Amino acid sequence: MQVKCFGCASLIEAGDADAAADAFVAHGRAAHPWAYPEAALRNYARNYAEATERLTGDTTRLPEIAAITVHPATSDRVEDWLQLFDHDGFADNPDWASCYCLEPHVWELHRDAAGLYLGIRPTDPLTPSPGREPP
Ligand SMILES: [Zn+2]
Repeated sequence: MQVKCFGCASLIEAGDADAAADAFVAHGRAAHPWAYPEAALRNYARNYAEATERLTGDTTRLPEIAAITVHPATSDRVEDWLQLFDHDGFADNPDWASCYCLEPHVWELHRDAAGLYLGIRPTDPLTPSPGREPP
């Protein structure tokens, strides 16, 4: 599996998604002064690595874009939505396929009433983030 660093375009290779996350976090700490939470970096790396093996769509440039129909995101269209974003929509761009929500960009420190650090969470807890849990 591979992860391309969004900070310097280094290509990081690892045997599985967890190893890719470990290697990416280590790279980030050594090469960049990022303030991103580690969980967000791990999510990015894991999702990117998995995307490099998951994407299956055709990457041939089309001569024209056909008519587009927009449908509400309802439960009966989940498979269509996943097919688009997990396979076709970003077939040539695992970076974009690594996450197509805003979760990694909206994390905040989560503290209890006494100010003790409890972890991090999305700034909007109502934002759906299937398959991912805050640490
Ligand atoms: Zn880098």
